[in-house]
Amino acid sequence: NENRKVALVTGANKGIGYEIAAGLGALGWKVGVGARDEARRESAVAKLRAAGLDAFGVPLDVTDDASVTAAARLIEERAGRLDVLVNNAGITGGGPQEPTKVDPDRVRAAVETNVIGVIRVTNALLPLLLRSSSPRIVNVSSRVGSLTLQTTPGTETGPISVAYAPSKTFLNAVTVQYAKELADTNILINAVCPGYTATDLNAFQGVRTAQQGAVSAIRLATVPDDGPTGRFFSDEGEIPW
Ligand code: NDP
Repeated sequence: NENRKVALVTGANKGIGYEIAAGLGALGWKVGVGARDEARRESAVAKLRAAGLDAFGVPLDVTDDASVTAAARLIEERAGRLDVLVNNAGITGGGPQEPTKVDPDRVRAAVETNVIGVIRVTNALLPLLLRSSSPRIVNVSSRVGSLTLQTTPGTETGPISVAYAPSKTFLNAVTVQYAKELADTNILINAVCPGYTATDLNAFQGVRTAQQGAVSAIRLATVPDDGPTGRFFSDEGEIPW
């Protein structure tokens, strides 16, 4: 069916990304499962297909130019366009992350994946998104990156962190800049926070299921043409920058 929407979710082999892929697939969409590890990717694709969803694997390491270029080419071959890009792949950079103790390589790694990876993937897919009649980009960020919440006394925004949290602050800022540049296109681009979700990222300490964590991304992936752009949401509403 040529009319079905086409989505690409990065880091979709597990966790929140997998559930975003499953949720978009359940809408009848064709979903590219972006993942860097072949075995993890193919087992995720097999699981989604077994559930009756139109999923296909997209080899994708967001830190690798050649991989990202090849992924864009594959989407073009498979679908000819892209309706929704969900930039979900992310890492913490590992601990400890107190500013005075951190290994600067952890900061570099978090920024490389969580920020530069998003820019690299977005720009590679942009020509295919511009072929869509209602393109959407969703950047999976985190409320721990909110400077407003971090500086509001009494607000819990996770442990002191100079790699992960600032990488999400940076991602939010990047999201705003894209929204400004793309304001005269039909692309809507927003950041979302999944909430504290039990995944490998936090050794399953999160309190939400991955399926719950996927809700905001799915909502922003499917907003109508008069929907928001350049904003930041959880499933409880808007989050301050
Ligand atoms: P997971 O660790 O379960 O999943 C992260 C995904 O990103 C995996 O598929 C991983 O692939 C992929 N990934 C990491 N680096 C790369 C890369 N270089 N190229 C391609 N894929 C990559 O974590 P979550 O599901 O929790 O995280 C998803 C997003 O949600 C992240 O952006 C995270 O920051 C954000 N988030 C999560 C919260 C939570 O409480 N869990 C809270 C707020 C935000 P692989 O299996 O190969 O490592």
